[in-house]
Amino acid sequence: TATKSIKEGKAEICLTTEKVFYNPVQEFNRDLSIAVLTIFTKEYKTEQIAKAEKRGKNKPQNPTDEGRETDTNNEVDISILEALSATGLRSIRYAKEVPNVTKIVANDLSKQAVETIQANIVHNEVENLIETSHDDACMVMYKHKHPMKRFAAIDLDPYGCPSVFLDSAVQSVQDGGLLLITATDMAVLAGNAPETCYSKYGAISLKTKCCHEVALRIMLQCIESHANRYSRYIVPLLSISADFYIRVFVKVYTGAIHCKKTTSKLSMAYHCTGCDNITLQPLGGFKPNPTEKNPTQTKAYLPAAPPVGEFCSNCNQRHHLGGPLWSAPIHDEAFVTKVLNHVENNPDLFGTAKRIAGILAMVREELLDIPLYHSMDRLCGRVHLETMPMLIMRSALLNAGYKVSYSHASRMSIKTRAPAHVVWDIIRTW
Ligand code: SAM
Repeated sequence: TATKSIKEGKAEICLTTEKVFYNPVQEFNRDLSIAVLTIFTKEYKTEQIAKAEKRGKNKPQNPTDEGRETDTNNEVDISILEALSATGLRSIRYAKEVPNVTKIVANDLSKQAVETIQANIVHNEVENLIETSHDDACMVMYKHKHPMKRFAAIDLDPYGCPSVFLDSAVQSVQDGGLLLITATDMAVLAGNAPETCYSKYGAISLKTKCCHEVALRIMLQCIESHANRYSRYIVPLLSISADFYIRVFVKVYTGAIHCKKTTSKLSMAYHCTGCDNITLQPLGGFKPNPTEKNPTQTKAYLPAAPPVGEFCSNCNQRHHLGGPLWSAPIHDEAFVTKVLNHVENNPDLFGTAKRIAGILAMVREELLDIPLYHSMDRLCGRVHLETMPMLIMRSALLNAGYKVSYSHASRMSIKTRAPAHVVWDIIRTW
């Protein structure tokens, strides 16, 4: 086959075989990841320097310490693993476009992929930053479990489902490090195969109009449950549904006490077969005991709300049960704002800058304390009405005293805390 040359960002890669995976549509995914990593590495560096100063610069290295030692020149080790690298394009772009990175490992199981990566590293003159690895992604990660060997960031971009890589990923990322994870098996996550979803992700998916946000929340609960096994927990920075896939960016921290709060971040979802409404049932609550020295260490455990019934309180039809879903915020607003500002101030750095800015602006407006959303066309379709203009619904909800926002995942979405009957009243009186 003839050699194909592909330019993206500051990288130029050569492809000599069709057998190595390359998808031009994923430029947006790679651009967004670079923007996120740019902000992340900057903050991570500052955090590590502060940690090192706190520990005392002259303290001998303690190999069991979380976090790598920072030397006296404020050099922070920021290593990235691209566990499923294919052509190496992403790793080469990270090397050339993300500041503060000290080392990148580009791994792939396929021999041809690794040969392609190696050739592309030389072609782009990034030998000083990237090393190749020819291994199973899980094996590479298990070899980096030790706190002194962990990566600051791990990128998982598999075909389909990433869950087989999570056990090793949550163990081999630094405390305060970042996981960047793609899933492309949307049929499974978005409700076409709930039983497969349960076996792969540990949650039942739902066939509903807000399935893309459900997919993100299933992914997040799945990562959290893997992390919790090792007394670690996640903090989502940004969670995106785009094209045919989802992509989540989460920080991982160590802390057994925080893992006790996980049940209060998860909910079962009762999906009405009649009106499509979803009612969330939190898995549990965490009852702080003010008389204890450390109130978060209390053993008291409360179910956070009475169980949702078999029938929908709005239309009396049967519920389907889905979940558990991550029901805590899926983005960190301050972080998203920084990424958005970076992209808006540097549009020339990203081929897909406009699209990133558009999506992040929507993400920033999302009501973070309201999981899931109604869908305007589905609501009107249920009662055989033509679709009501979004503006009318949004003003009616605002007038009734309820906050309202879109979700970036759907143009027809309405996020609101207004109870279902209020939404239906608005439609009926329209
Ligand atoms: N991240 C790449 C990009 O942005 O262009 C695309 C990665 S492609 C979707 C998935 C890659 O994972 C393929 O090159 C495949 O050979 C590799 N792969 C599949 N299973 C693997 C495993 N268990 N360990 C390492 N690599 C694997």
